[in-house]
Amino acid sequence: MRRKLAAGNWKMNGTTAALEELDALQEVAEGAAEVLICPPSTLIAQAAVRSGKVAIGGQDCHSAASGAHTGDISALMLRDAGATHVILGHSERRADHGESDALVAYKALAAWDAGLTAIVCVGETLEQRESGKTLDVIGKQLAGSLPDDVTASNTVIAYEPVWAIGTGKVPTTDQIAEVHTFMRATLVQRFGNETATGIRLLYGGSVKATNATEIFAVVDVDGALVGGASLKASDFAPIVTALN
Ligand code: 13P
Repeated sequence: MRRKLAAGNWKMNGTTAALEELDALQEVAEGAAEVLICPPSTLIAQAAVRSGKVAIGGQDCHSAASGAHTGDISALMLRDAGATHVILGHSERRADHGESDALVAYKALAAWDAGLTAIVCVGETLEQRESGKTLDVIGKQLAGSLPDDVTASNTVIAYEPVWAIGTGKVPTTDQIAEVHTFMRATLVQRFGNETATGIRLLYGGSVKATNATEIFAVVDVDGALVGGASLKASDFAPIVTALN
């Protein structure tokens, strides 16, 4: 049985005052679903101290364990600061920093080495969807971004259509179902039935309290990766409740 996961990605938002939001999530984090917040790296250590029932994650890590990489953060540093998860291959990193599938796979290996669960993101652009390439793109991203040693506990996959992120546009439930069913089948083929059926598949892109229930009812949707609506506990808590 896959445990539902409500993950919040604060992106480049939040200073110490934002940590109050973690206090306000404690009650809803008592429920069946796992609750995860990925604040900016400057807040991870402080967040981990006061996170209570909420798990804390990073938004990226370097593929190397340490070394001369000015401005970067290693998976071990995230772990040391109290993180248990790390988002990898988010479309904003793929676009802003030119991250390739191969680099994301190396980052996943680094995350696992440090004992972190990797949340690997995939998703098509609007142009790719409109030209009928969605499943090809997702298949290629999964093939290239996931190392061979994926397990149900070391990896979570997030499907985030690029055109749905921060836009208020959400795919239809049929479109989400098509991709999630495809992802599950792809994982079964590569990793076998037992591993693949244990891996949690999140949907991300303009998830809000008002659409969460409908999205969570879609086959093979095991939770959400939420951006804007995770910044305030008052917006995020109802999304968690919809999963519980
Ligand atoms: P929004 O929820 O703001 O659309 O962002 C989704 C996202 O990119 C989460 O990683």
